[in-house]
Amino acid sequence: VSPVTFKDLLGNREAAGRLQQMAALNRVPPSLLFAGPAGVGKLGAALALAQALNCPSSDAGDSCGRCPSCRRIERGEHPDVRVITPEGKGGQLRVSSVRAVVAEIAFRPFEGQKRVFILKDAGRMNLEAANALLKSLEEPPPSSVLILVTAGEAELPPTVLSRCQRVRFRPLLPEERAEILVRDHGLTGPQAIDAASLLEGAGIVDAEGDVEELRRLRHDALRLLEGCARGWSRSELLAEADGRAREAERSTRLLRMTLGLMRDVTACAAGESGHLRHRDLRAELGALAGQASLDVWIEAYRQSEAALSALEHYSNKRLTWENLLLELRALQRLD
Ligand SMILES: [Zn+2]
Repeated sequence: VSPVTFKDLLGNREAAGRLQQMAALNRVPPSLLFAGPAGVGKLGAALALAQALNCPSSDAGDSCGRCPSCRRIERGEHPDVRVITPEGKGGQLRVSSVRAVVAEIAFRPFEGQKRVFILKDAGRMNLEAANALLKSLEEPPPSSVLILVTAGEAELPPTVLSRCQRVRFRPLLPEERAEILVRDHGLTGPQAIDAASLLEGAGIVDAEGDVEELRRLRHDALRLLEGCARGWSRSELLAEADGRAREAERSTRLLRMTLGLMRDVTACAAGESGHLRHRDLRAELGALAGQASLDVWIEAYRQSEAALSALEHYSNKRLTWENLLLELRALQRLD
C-alpha cells in the first residue's frame, strides 16, 4: 500500500496544500467533492485527510503516517474512517450502503477526532441513493466529514454537487507518474520514464497499469498501423478486426494506444519529430510517416478518433474495427 500522508502524495500539490491547510486550521467543510481524472491520487488524498484529522501527532495539517491511528486508517481498519465502494453488477453505489452512511454519520467518533466517510466512484449513484444522501449533505453533523470521490462529476445530480465544496485534481505530469512507478512499483528511473511515456502515449491515466501489457499493447498498435500502411489483404484485415473485437476492454485501450502512435506519426509527417512521445520508436514511426502525406495521416487520425468514441459508447465492436481498418487501408492507397 502506498503511503497516505500529504507529503507523500505525488502531483496535485495545489489540492494537497489546500486540504492540508483546512486540516491545520481545523476548518474542513462537512462535505467535499474530490473531482478529477482516474488514477491521480484522489483516494490517497481523502485518506491523507482522514489521517491528518485523526492523528494525535498531526503537524501543520499532515499526519505522522506511523502511529496506530494512521496505520489503521491506511489498512482500512479504523472504526471512524469508512471507504464505501460501488459493488455488484454494473458497479453501483447501493442505496442501502448510502442509507447506512446517512445513519452512521450522526454518531460521535468512536476513538478518533473526526469520522470520515469516503464515497468512492460517487458518480455511480442512482437518483434514489443521491436523494438518500441529501439529508446528510443538508444537515451535516459537526464531527463527521463526507468526501465524494469521482472521475465523473457530471454524473452527480446538481442537488448533490451544489452542497459539496469542490477540490479539483489535475492529470499527473509524465515526471510525476514516473516517480510513482519508481516508488511504488519498483521500476528503475529509465524504465519508469519509458513506462510513463507509454501510459501518456496511450492516454491511460492509471499509474498502476501493467508495464509489460503496455509494451505488448504498443507492439500490437504498431503492427496494426504497419499492416494498414502495407495494404493488408481483405482476409488479413477481417481476421484482424475479428481478433480485436474479441478483446473487449483491451480493444479500446489498443485503439487509444494506436492514436498515441498516430500523433507521433503525424508529427513526423509534419517534419516535427523533435517532440515524439515514443522516442524509442523513431525509426518505425518515421517509416510510417513516409508512406503517406500529412493530410492522409490527419484524416486517418480523425477516423480513428471517431472509431474510439464509437467503441467507448455503444457500437458493434467487430463492425467498428472492420470499418476503421478498411478506411485506414483505403486512405493509404489513395495517396
Ligand atoms: Zn499518526
